[in-house]
Amino acid sequence: MTDARLPVVIVGSGLAAWTVARELRKLDKTRELRIVTRNAGHYYSKPMLSNALAAGKSAAQLVNTPAAQMAQQTAVRLHAHTTALSIDRDRRVVHTSDGAIEYGQLVLATGAEPLRVALDGDAAGDVLSVNDLDDYALFRERLAHAAPVVILGAGLIGCEFANDLAQAGHAVEIVDPGPQVLGRLVPEPAAALLQRSLERIGVRFHLKKSALSVERDRGQLRLRLSDDRRLNASLVLSAIGLRPRTDLARNAGLDTDRGIRVDASLRTSDQQIFALGDGAEYEGVVLPYVMPIMHAARTIAAQLVGSNVHVRFPPMPVVVKTPVAPVVAVPPPATLEPRWQHTTSESGIESRCLSADGRLLGFALVGDAIARKSGLLAALGESR
Ligand SMILES: Cc1cc2nc3c(=O)[nH]c(=O)nc-3n(C[C@H](O)[C@H](O)[C@H](O)COP(=O)(O)OP(=O)(O)OC[C@H]3O[C@@H](n4cnc5c(N)ncnc54)[C@H](O)[C@@H]3O)c2cc1C
Repeated sequence: MTDARLPVVIVGSGLAAWTVARELRKLDKTRELRIVTRNAGHYYSKPMLSNALAAGKSAAQLVNTPAAQMAQQTAVRLHAHTTALSIDRDRRVVHTSDGAIEYGQLVLATGAEPLRVALDGDAAGDVLSVNDLDDYALFRERLAHAAPVVILGAGLIGCEFANDLAQAGHAVEIVDPGPQVLGRLVPEPAAALLQRSLERIGVRFHLKKSALSVERDRGQLRLRLSDDRRLNASLVLSAIGLRPRTDLARNAGLDTDRGIRVDASLRTSDQQIFALGDGAEYEGVVLPYVMPIMHAARTIAAQLVGSNVHVRFPPMPVVVKTPVAPVVAVPPPATLEPRWQHTTSESGIESRCLSADGRLLGFALVGDAIARKSGLLAALGESR
């Protein structure tokens, strides 16, 4: 049974956590609401982290609303700089670094952790990832012009940082073991156009190569690649992917696999505990983007006030913020054998993925072709 006299406790203070708080307040002004977060709790747009350098923004300038103001606006009791350590599901208590907190319902919005590249060498610990404001502050502090910035990973985040760094005047090299950029997102001709566009602003690619080691060398870093090539770097940025944070949920006995497993009501295997955001797994898939969070937060807020609504994700385009050649993609379901059709123009490409009977299953647009996004999304909505 749900006890509405006890608070809703949300763990995390990223986009997922604050969006649940905002959506709940639209429906219920009085329920006690607490947020437990191990960072300061400021509200910021994480997607800006890979687009902020050329715009000259510091970490402080990326804060949209300071934590105290957010807490006041949403009538939240904020436990900042507090880590949730374990969940006692029988007693409905979260044990934190600052004591125990009882909950009526709990929302896990704990996000994901950057994957680490296994590297040899005395500077392996100096490799940075940028996944929150503090990481971004450190990244800016360590940036130097003496040698290129080497990015590990040519996916969405690696390409966005490459564009931003190059636009800010830095030499950039990208290393990726795969044969193309945006490997999981777009077909080869679309990837090739983005790669050429980044090369035009000075980015150099080392595809089908892995980084093996990184050493300190006279004030710089020196990488060794799998083809034995050496690269000098002022900084090494890892952008090889994220791993949902599932430890808290798993240790509490909740079902976890790729992420914290939830059903269409966004409930975990415990009916009083919900999950969303980068840490959640919806019907076998992790959706580490902003749009799913918006849909999921509305569903959780409705569930918290007693409406039995289920989440339905519409086709959600992934936008790659590479101003030199912007990309919008809706990849086809991974279970299907893709059949792509490409239409190229001077400064863009439209790639459509079609089924054997000609139905649209997904698409990728690069450069000028992104203007056709709305039409293709509508067509996709009808055909899926
Ligand atoms: C550089 C970059 C660019 C991106 N660009 C785009 C884009 O263009 N479009 C798009 O759709 N998506 C983009 N994304 C993804 C998008 O930003 C994320 O999907 C979204 O911000 C995730 O929000 P979240 O709240 O789930 O996780 P997070 O923002 O990671 O929040 C997790 C929170 O949980 C807290 N926490 C974790 N464990 C505990 C604990 N045990 N106790 C207390 N607190 C805890 C953390 O401190 C943090 O506050 C980008 C991501 C990055 C990194």
